Amino acid sequence: MCLVTNGSLLTKELTEKILTSSNKTDKLIHINFSLDSNSSKSFKEIKKVDLFEKTVNNIKYFIKRREELGLLFPKISISFIVLKENFHEVKSFVSFWQSQFPSKIESAPEGVPWGVKDVLIFKQGFTLLKKDNEEQAELYNKVISSYKKEDSSSPQANSFCPAPFRFPIITAWGDVYPCCMASQGDIVLGNIKKTPFPEIWNGPKYKALRKAHIKGNLKAFPTCEICPTQHYLPAISDDERIFWEKTLK
Ligand code: SF4
Repeated sequence: MCLVTNGSLLTKELTEKILTSSNKTDKLIHINFSLDSNSSKSFKEIKKVDLFEKTVNNIKYFIKRREELGLLFPKISISFIVLKENFHEVKSFVSFWQSQFPSKIESAPEGVPWGVKDVLIFKQGFTLLKKDNEEQAELYNKVISSYKKEDSSSPQANSFCPAPFRFPIITAWGDVYPCCMASQGDIVLGNIKKTPFPEIWNGPKYKALRKAHIKGNLKAFPTCEICPTQHYLPAISDDERIFWEKTLK
C-alpha cells in the first residue's frame, strides 16, 4: 500500500504506528509527503494554512525514526508541484531535504515507480506551462535531469490498474474509494466510520475490484473501463502481482 499525505497530522504516535505495523496485506511500501514549498510564506500562500514548521518537523521525525528502526520500508518521497509561488525555492528545497536523508536522494519527475527508493518528486504546475514562465520550466528540467531511470526499474506499461492494490482514498466523511478518479461515488468500497479499514481493504468489494482488474474484465466497473489514469500510475512490481494473485484465489 502507498500513502499520500500532507503530513500535517502525522504525530509521533502515528509515526510509530505506521512504522511498526506491518501485516501481510496492508504493509506500507511508500509514503509521499505533498509539501510543495520550502518556507512558511509559500506554504501558506499555496495551502492556505500556517503549518509549514509543524509539517516539516513531522516529516523529519518520520525519516529519523525509520532510520533508527532500521527499516527499508516505507520508501519516502517528498513532492513539490512547481508553481509561480514557489519556484524560487526549488534549489533550497532540494538541498534541505537531501541533508535530511542518510544517503543522497535524487530529484525525479512525477510518475517514478513507488516503493523502490526515497526520492524528491517534482511536477510542473500549470502556471509553468505559460510562455512567460520559461525560466521556471528550465529550472524544473534542470532539477530532474539528473534522475537515473536505469536503476529504478523504470515505469512499464500497466497491464492493469495499480490503484485498487495501492491507493485507497478515504474522504473526510469516511468513504473509501480505490482512487480519486472513482471518488465521484460509483465505486464506494466501504466507510471507516462503520467498518474498520483493514476489513474494508481485505473485504469482498475490494477483492471483486482487484479480481476484475487482474482478469481484465471491468464490465462491473464502468468508471474503470474508460479511465485513462490507470495507464500512467506507477505499475505494481512482479512480487506484488504474485502476492495479490494468491490472495484472490
Ligand atoms: S482504472 Fe481508474 S477509476 Fe479504476 S481504480 Fe484505476 S484509477 Fe481508479
